[in-house]
Amino acid sequence: MADKDIKKVRRHLTQREALIFERSSPGKPPFALPPLDVPPVDPADALGAQRVREQIEGFPEVSEFEVVRHFTRLSTWNYGVDTGAYLLGSCTMKYNPKVNEVVARVDGIGNAHPYQPEMLSQGCLKIHQLLSELLLEIVGLDAITLQPAAGAHGEMTGLLLVRAYQESKGNPRRKVLIPDSAHGTNPASAAIAGYQAQNLASNRQGTVDLEQLDRLMNEEVAALMLTNPNTLGIFENEIVRIAEIVHSRGGLLYMDGANMNALMGISRPGDFGVDVMHLNLHKTFSTPHGGGGPGAGPVAVKKILEPFLPVPVMVENKDGSLAYDFNRPRSIGRVRAFYGNFGMLVRALAYILANGAEGLRLTTEDAVLNSAYIRKKLEGTYELPYSSPTLHECVFSDKKQAQRGVHTGDIAKRLIDYGFHPYTVSFPLVVSGAMMIEPTESESKQELDELVDALQAIAREAEQEPETVLGAPHTTHLGRLDEVQAARHPVLRWKPPTRE
Ligand SMILES: *Cc1c(COP(=O)(O)O)cnc(C)c1O
Repeated sequence: MADKDIKKVRRHLTQREALIFERSSPGKPPFALPPLDVPPVDPADALGAQRVREQIEGFPEVSEFEVVRHFTRLSTWNYGVDTGAYLLGSCTMKYNPKVNEVVARVDGIGNAHPYQPEMLSQGCLKIHQLLSELLLEIVGLDAITLQPAAGAHGEMTGLLLVRAYQESKGNPRRKVLIPDSAHGTNPASAAIAGYQAQNLASNRQGTVDLEQLDRLMNEEVAALMLTNPNTLGIFENEIVRIAEIVHSRGGLLYMDGANMNALMGISRPGDFGVDVMHLNLHKTFSTPHGGGGPGAGPVAVKKILEPFLPVPVMVENKDGSLAYDFNRPRSIGRVRAFYGNFGMLVRALAYILANGAEGLRLTTEDAVLNSAYIRKKLEGTYELPYSSPTLHECVFSDKKQAQRGVHTGDIAKRLIDYGFHPYTVSFPLVVSGAMMIEPTESESKQELDELVDALQAIAREAEQEPETVLGAPHTTHLGRLDEVQAARHPVLRWKPPTRE
């Protein structure tokens, strides 16, 4: 069948499948309930008449089977890390071991209540304690909070700790230095913590410009906030010197450790001068993410910041039992209800214990190896804007293809046709037309080879038949969407169709 016929059939299918509203007919209920055998309560009495709707105008009335088919079908139109390679650079979409799900659902863990007395929660507290110890061992720092619910939330928490520390020295200071290769959440977090973000330009190698740092690092600056490896995937090899400069002017070194999967088991931020950092358990430590959470962004600190950690803090009683200490007068307070996204913490602990030290080191080595493989295979095809060695991710640009009018977003959309989730586009900001690829350690060589083949085929298409790439995706249920309309007039929920 010719391409356009396949498209026609597919369009027809999509239309037929989308007919949930047209299948509706009045009085076709999706369920049958047994007759009520208790006195009925009038909802208007219980809720107030104005809160009760007799009917939702236009709401489809369909059978259970049709509803189930509708949502099951929609779920198959989606793409997830369980469907195929998910290349989003910086986001680390790695394998989520299914055994972690089993562990997180064990009765005493999954059904534990945060108001359960400590005496009856010793198992959960032990999980908290053990995970804290292991994470601290991995990062080489002294104390930790597991409360923050995401990476950006960890950043905010970390910067509030910096502020509390600087205040305790007599002056909270005004600014936070942030390299232009940092993650986009960094300046936002600095602003929320009451700091002015000051941009630090990268040098030609894509790393911090030491001379500029030396010039800008003064008594106004509370901290340098460094993503390491940065969003080009490059390790800051002058990190020790950077830490010295920051510390010599009374500043603190914050490390965005969301991508600790590039360092874990090999080097420890605490050893190279970092004072405070967050981790993304939903990246490095395999807990699921995407779709808005839940995540977990623990914050680890040097001893000097420990007094300011959020309450409660885990302590050990004399008899060896564990407890939460709320009596911490210098604490910045709570940053989240209860003790963090506990289910995520359980999954991360299961992942760490299953891997062991050797396994964690190996995941790092494989993540770096996989990324290096992609880089090497594609460097002749796509422009590599920085030649410095990279770790867990690599960043190309669309410079060559742009000459034919094909840009990173077009290539990303065409990749969908080849069965891969797009890489990260428009980021990092220091690369125009960025194509940021993070294969993670989870992908096999075969999958990587197929990805390389796909990206090479797309480069050929860009050369020979650019319109194919520019019109992509062609194989999805919905074709190329209007991004401007989607941003300006987002339609995020179902509303009854309005009658003309
Ligand atoms: C993902 C990421 C963040 C933000 O983490 P969220 O959990 O999405 O808030 C921050 N910094 C870096 C480097 C990241 O990759």
